[in-house]
Order: sequence, then structure tokens, then C-alpha cells
Amino acid sequence: EEHNKQHAVSECDVCIVGGSIAGLALSIGLRTRFPDLHIALFERRQFTKAGAVLGVAPNGQKAIRELSEESTLLSSILNEGQEVKGPPELNCRPMTVLVFWYQLRDILLEYAQHLGGNLSVYTQMELQDMTEAQDAETVTVSFQDTTAQKQRTTVSAKLVVGADGINSTVRRLMRLPPAVVSDTTSIRGTVVIDHNNKSLRQKIDGSLIFSHQDTTLYLITIEKNQNVISWALSSKTTNLIDDEGVDATEKILMLLGYHERDDKSVEEKEKLELAAAVLRATDPENVVRAQNAVMDMSTGWGHRPHHPCATLVGDAAHACRPTDGQGGNMALEDCVVLCRAFTKHRNLSRNNVKELIQDFEQTRLPRVQRLHKDQSDRAQLPPGKWVSWTSEFVDWVHQGV
Ligand SMILES: Cc1cc2nc3c(=O)[nH]c(=O)nc-3n(C[C@H](O)[C@H](O)[C@H](O)COP(=O)(O)OP(=O)(O)OC[C@H]3O[C@@H](n4cnc5c(N)ncnc54)[C@H](O)[C@@H]3O)c2cc1C
Repeated sequence: EEHNKQHAVSECDVCIVGGSIAGLALSIGLRTRFPDLHIALFERRQFTKAGAVLGVAPNGQKAIRELSEESTLLSSILNEGQEVKGPPELNCRPMTVLVFWYQLRDILLEYAQHLGGNLSVYTQMELQDMTEAQDAETVTVSFQDTTAQKQRTTVSAKLVVGADGINSTVRRLMRLPPAVVSDTTSIRGTVVIDHNNKSLRQKIDGSLIFSHQDTTLYLITIEKNQNVISWALSSKTTNLIDDEGVDATEKILMLLGYHERDDKSVEEKEKLELAAAVLRATDPENVVRAQNAVMDMSTGWGHRPHHPCATLVGDAAHACRPTDGQGGNMALEDCVVLCRAFTKHRNLSRNNVKELIQDFEQTRLPRVQRLHKDQSDRAQLPPGKWVSWTSEFVDWVHQGV
């Protein structure tokens, strides 16, 4: 879908940076509640079929329902997914539902675009800078077109929301400390099935796991979608981030022991050939790489004299370990709490914006800190094992915000 950059708005009430789960969900929540609010969302990538799968947990489901103020958005997401057949403690309704990441993104995007009105979505526009004069009522935000044209666009906004993920530029411009990078790299990709690779989908049918030394690859299919295979790789080899296309594929295969096949059984060799075929069939456009990282939430969103009219949601605010699959769900919760704060501080004068931000961040902090504590406790436990959620944690997830 082409999103017109030539006619980007020059003014808006809320400028959202990042068009992934957090950015799109927030735009839906704000647009639904406040049709008069002018919202501009800028995403630096194109909307490709990147990513693997994301578990929409009970708290995420509850958040989606509140953001859209009706049930069709949630139903269309749940209809695309499948319930996670997890350990017994997770088998209570509503169950976590696994969806292809790009499908979740596309459903949110379509819903946001259908709401339309004062909401504009621009792709291939990368945040470069934010300037905020001391007593000005607005922040000046500049973006650069990521295509060859490299055009610059400037927008003035009353509030900037950074929904731009773990390596957030908004966060950097606010001079907040970056996330502490861990030693694990995640790479996720999607293969769209065509007549050349039809048999791959049938051979997986469910999920397959490959492990070799400190690298693990999951191949995942979802019953309701016969046209897609997704894969997620986690490895402690950190120099995987910069490789693309064929180089990345061959390096991943090396890490999986593909080139040391001589001492393997026929069955193991067949499995590795399947992994190789899936990786080689992946369009590099549909691959996303990230270094896992965790933010220190001990002082909340962080003290910042710079840019008091900006805040952060999702991974940009509180990236956590992927252990419990809560990253996306916490991002959805953020959007609900931020929308509620908007209801209380409706007039976006500079002072009100500051109060709105404070209200949002303070309300949100206890839940974020609770999750971070849980995850740092889990990180002390031996790797490679699922450690049961306590019944208290299950209740916490079900309760949501
Ligand atoms: C392409 C992609 C695929 C993913 N696949 C999965 C998956 O399969 N499973 C899973 O659990 N998690 C996945 N994630 C991560 C997951 O979405 C997050 O961990 C979580 O949902 C919180 O989302 P978020 O919106 O806060 O951050 P993110 O999902 O990281 O989104 C941040 C967005 O901001 C954009 N952005 C960054 N910098 C700028 C800038 N300077 N200007 C404009 N835009 C910018 C990025 O392109 C991205 O779209 C994926 C993320 C991305 C970007």
C-alpha cells in the first residue's frame, strides 16, 4: 500500500513515531475516542510481511477491546490465530492466541486506515530530529524519506509519542539511556508459499525446533493460514545483525551445523535440508533482526529536562526479556493507559501535556516494574527450561489494565 509522503501534514496534535504494534494500536485508541484529534504516524519501513509470531495474551486481548471500544477488531485478530497449547497453568480462558506478526500488524493498520478522518499514516519516513523551544507550545519533528529521494519533512506537534522500538530514536533524542544489550540476537522471517515451495508447508505442519550449540531455530505454521511459514532464530552469535540475504542465510545454516552433516542420521539431514529450504525461500524484505535488550526501569521512564512534551510506549519505553511473550501485550496495555490519560487531560496546552505524560508514566510504572522483576528473577534460572508461571502471575496477566 502506498502512503503518500508528498503531502505529509505540517501540523498535528499527536505525532506517533513507529508504525508497529504500539504505534498502530495507539492511533486506533486515540482516533476512536477523539475524532477531532489530528494524529500523524510515521514509520521508517515499508509494511512488508516481516516477523514471525506473537502471542496475544489475555491482557493484550482486553487492551485491544478497550482501544477499539467494540469487539470486531479483536475477533478479526483471534480469527487468524490459534490458541497456544501451553503448559497446564496457561490453560484457562481466555487463552493466549498465536498470530503471525505481520497479520496482527496488517489488521491493526487496516482498522486504523478504515477509521481514517484525522489520522494520517506515512511509511518510509525516518525520524531525524526533534526541537522544542523552551516556551513553545509545539515540538518540531523532522523526518527523512528513506527512499532514494531523501526528502525531509517537518511536522509540528503538541505531543510526540515514541513507539519506535528497542533502538528508539525518540528515546535517544530525549537523552534517556539506551537499553542494555544482551548477548542474544533474534532474527525472524516469513515465507509466503507459492507453487515452488508448497511442500515445505506440509512438511512442517505445526512447529519444528532445531538446536545446535547456542543457536535455536523454530519453524512455525498456523493451521488457519496455509500460505505462510514463519521462523524465529535465537543465537548468542552477535555478529548476525549486519548480514543480509544470502550471507545471513548461509551463516545461520553454519550455526545450525548444516555443513557438518557427515556424522548425522538420515532423519537429521532431512530436517536440516528442510530448515535450509525455508531460510533460502525467505525474501530478505521479510526478515527482521534485533539484538535483545532490556531497559532499566528502576527510575521509571527516566528523568528528562529535554523534551518534556514527548513520551515513549512499548519497547521504546520498557523493552524486556522475551521470556514470557509479554512485550507486545505490555505495548497494548501502554496504549490503553495513555488513552485514559488523554481523557483526563483533554486540552493539549503545554502544561496539560506535561501532566498527561506524568499521569500516564506514573500509572503505568508499577505493572512494568512488576514484569521486569519477574523476568530478571527468571533470568537467574537455568536456561532451556520452561519455568511455570505462578498462579499469581497468571492472575496478573489475566487481570490486565
Ligand atoms: C518488523 C518487525 C517484526 C517483528 N516480529 C516479531 C515477532 O514475530 N514476534 C514478536 O514477539 N515480536 C516481534 N517484533 C517485536 C515486537 O513487535 C515488539 O517486541 C513488541 O510488540 C512491542 O512493539 P513496539 O511497537 O513497541 O516496537 P517494534 O515492534 O519494535 O516497532 C517499532 C517500530 O518503529 C519503527 N521505527 C524505528 N525507528 C524509527 C524511526 N527513527 N523513525 C520512524 N520509525 C521508526 C520500526 O521500523 C518499527 O516498525 C517485531 C518487530 C518488528 C519491527
